[in-house]
Amino acid sequence: MLVAAIAFGITAAGAQSPAPEKPAVERANLVRPTMPVPADLFPVATDARLGGDNSRTRLIMDLSRTIDVAAFTLADPYRVVVDLPQVTFQLPAKTGASPKGLVKAFRYGLVMQGGSRIVIDTTGPVRVEKAFVLESVDKQPARLVIDLVSIDRAAFMRNLALEKPPVRANDTRRAEPVKRPGDGRPLVVIDPGHGGIDNGTVAATGEMEKQIVLEFAQALQARLEKTGKYRVAMTRTDDRFVALGERVRFARGQGADLFISIHADALSSRTESDVRGATIYTVSDTASDAEAARLAEAENKADAIAGVDLSSEPEEVADILIDLTQRETKNFSHHFARAAVSELKSAAKLHKHPLKSAGFKVLKAPDVPSVLVELGYVTNKQDLKLMVSEAWRAKTTDALAQAVNAFFSTRLAGSGPRAGAN
Ligand code: ZN
Repeated sequence: MLVAAIAFGITAAGAQSPAPEKPAVERANLVRPTMPVPADLFPVATDARLGGDNSRTRLIMDLSRTIDVAAFTLADPYRVVVDLPQVTFQLPAKTGASPKGLVKAFRYGLVMQGGSRIVIDTTGPVRVEKAFVLESVDKQPARLVIDLVSIDRAAFMRNLALEKPPVRANDTRRAEPVKRPGDGRPLVVIDPGHGGIDNGTVAATGEMEKQIVLEFAQALQARLEKTGKYRVAMTRTDDRFVALGERVRFARGQGADLFISIHADALSSRTESDVRGATIYTVSDTASDAEAARLAEAENKADAIAGVDLSSEPEEVADILIDLTQRETKNFSHHFARAAVSELKSAAKLHKHPLKSAGFKVLKAPDVPSVLVELGYVTNKQDLKLMVSEAWRAKTTDALAQAVNAFFSTRLAGSGPRAGAN
């Protein structure tokens, strides 16, 4: 409790001048944590600022106590990753959003139980000259200091080879299936997109995709479990980051019969703020249209956003058997996508082209029928209002549960689509 009291004292004293247009307090209140965390359990970060120029830039973050830090760099895109023990971030809204010197932007958040991370996007190749935490003196908080200096790409790549971080045991999930003996019910894996350091899309009024989709996924889980017909597993149940590959591995490891990834889209241009409605996506090598290609590219950036080393992702295996399985899996995926569209038609507002496909990484399990549901657009006022409303959530999860019923009733009856059918 003492730590919390001190931390709040620092926030008040060290607060930056308020943002000119949007009231920071109101925005911060919209971001509700999934679970209340006792503030004195973890160190608290209360403020952060950048200083310097295009040759050297310093990031300072105020902390309620000293912690251990480890920093390393990643290429393509250029990033600096700062790993910390679990930290409660109570930073002013929009912290990290504005560029300064060598820093384009930075993000922070939980990446695993007990572990937080800051990811800094840099304007070019940099070296981490210093990364340390200054102890608290007098009334000053403890301070995390990260010094970055500009270097050329050749030097950057040399450092990268030397400092290659150890392979981290990121996957804390159990790999063994949850299937209990005698329980032959189909397993549905629900995948709430984003989480932790990766907020996903953010509405002008502050609502975040990661929170909207988690609440929806939990409602869908409850709805499906109520039928008694399915086992349901979730790729995340709180506000933490899960890498795209890990989501796929989880579904496969559990032996999932259906994988439903939940998202909420955004369009940047003001003229597109009237675009709205839900869309169901399946995987394809070539995108069904430019809009689907843009979305897949945005969704596939999640790992880069969270500071995952993209070069360490295992190569996809080329295998004729996987190829054949994949074709059948794709047919099942389409089958579910069509069922979802026909059920959602009456329950929710659909996009004018509600069935699309593109190269989503999270839909690439060769043996698990997978779809990605974009619930709507956080940039559209009506969509946003619906997506945070309990009544809409109830209607929409009902419709998806009906689609799940339709999908498994034909499949279990043995009359599901065969390879080649469409
Ligand atoms: Zn998303």
